[in-house]
Amino acid sequence: MGPIGAAFGISTDLISATDNPCPTCRILYLVRIETASSNMSSQNSHSSEGSFFAQVNFMFDRAAAYTNHPKGLLSQIKNCNSVYHVSFPLVRDNGDIQVVSAYRAEHSHHMQPTKGGIRYAPTVNADEVMALAALMTYKCAVVDVPFGGAKGGVTIDRRLYSEAELERVTRRFTFELAKKNFIGPGVDVPAPDYGTSAREMTWILDTYTTVTDNPLDALASVTGKPVGQGGVRGRVEATGKGVYFGIREACDIEEDMKKLSLNKGVEGKTVIIQGLGNVGYHAALFLEQAGARLVGLAEYEGGIYNADGLKLEDVVRHRRETGSILNFPGANNVADTVKTLELACDILVPAALEAQIRMDNVDCIQARIIAEAANGPVTAAAADSLRDRGVMVIPDTYLNAGGVTVSYFEWLRNLSHVRHGRMSRRFEARNASRILQAVQNLVGQSFNKEQLQSIEADLAFGASEADLVASGLEDTMVGAYHEIHEKARYHAVDLRTGAFISAIEKIALGYERLGIFP
Ligand code: GLU
Repeated sequence: MGPIGAAFGISTDLISATDNPCPTCRILYLVRIETASSNMSSQNSHSSEGSFFAQVNFMFDRAAAYTNHPKGLLSQIKNCNSVYHVSFPLVRDNGDIQVVSAYRAEHSHHMQPTKGGIRYAPTVNADEVMALAALMTYKCAVVDVPFGGAKGGVTIDRRLYSEAELERVTRRFTFELAKKNFIGPGVDVPAPDYGTSAREMTWILDTYTTVTDNPLDALASVTGKPVGQGGVRGRVEATGKGVYFGIREACDIEEDMKKLSLNKGVEGKTVIIQGLGNVGYHAALFLEQAGARLVGLAEYEGGIYNADGLKLEDVVRHRRETGSILNFPGANNVADTVKTLELACDILVPAALEAQIRMDNVDCIQARIIAEAANGPVTAAAADSLRDRGVMVIPDTYLNAGGVTVSYFEWLRNLSHVRHGRMSRRFEARNASRILQAVQNLVGQSFNKEQLQSIEADLAFGASEADLVASGLEDTMVGAYHEIHEKARYHAVDLRTGAFISAIEKIALGYERLGIFP
């Protein structure tokens, strides 16, 4: 029970709070949300196929049928523990007052803190944050990151607000979260998500540091911060790089590629990416570096397609100069941006928002592999239809877990108050030099200057923070792929169900070992 719930004698922390606009004479209205999913479903963004949270729960139920855990325990794992809804006033730059709606859902406290991003988007509502928080729970379990799932959001289109307004929104929301104990290094740790970035995380950190009575660990209250403000090297590209590692692992299994009539490996595969934000951009970058051919890109202003290939950096430069990806030299424009997803390619990477591939467009999708870089970009029914057509979906609960994995490394760094590798780097470098020297002594021959230089560059160095983060990320994504792949193979199900089974088993084991309070 949260502190406000306790004060009002409400035996739950499922609380919705609506504030009087005047901060000094605020009256907090507390509403118990009995069954959050049913109450909220009318607000969902893809109601024709069921609310987003209902879809996540549908996928959960399907996977749960392959496990032997008690019904009650499965229901506890599936339900969203806490949802906080707050409205607060924003003074716009022109002096107008606007009421802003914001949410934080903590889906599961089987591990603490809870963890998940904060998004700024007009689509944000209670159903969406509950669904996304649930996906965070399963995602963390799939990649063995020791957090429960959470997600927050502010219902605004960030493009319509000045930087100063966004700062006021972020600071006020952080303050509201702190008041209700919905943020803290051991409680609930936000991170960037759609529409937010390191900039917002710095405002969150600064506000939390101001109000907390535990400033020592305040840096660990939020991740995705800039390096220099407690951020970890490698966090910015982490989700996109994780997406690349996941696709690489999938493409490296020859047997699976044969079933898709594709060759083994990423090299030479054609790719369409939806969303040139942080995740989409970095996924595109690493795929391009690995020899994949980027043929299509979709952004909110429209799409572009060139079967001969698009150079990512050239498109980014073009967009910077013209304000749009459209009219890129040599490419065809796609006026209706969602239609870009329907063009020919081997791998389609939706890296924007949820419900982009639905029953009304799934039959037009030509890709052989859908790599879910966003959260929930393929609806449950559309995923079934793709599976029936033999299309591989690499599920979000695994594929975009690179972000939270590196957030975990950032959180560890913040709690230990030391940069990863700081104490071992020189020691390792010196050890490597000693080994080189020992090898020369053993063979009675010295390397010449050029040989030594190249060997030292390759071997005689200690791991930096960036090296360690990259290594931890790769190890996590490779290990988790083979785990979900094995679950899927064993139960003869798709990868998404395999990922859910893996997550459910780990979470259930945690509950069984810990017991249930009281
Ligand atoms: N928003 C990201 C996600 O959906 C990152 C979450 C985090 O790092 O906590 O996975």
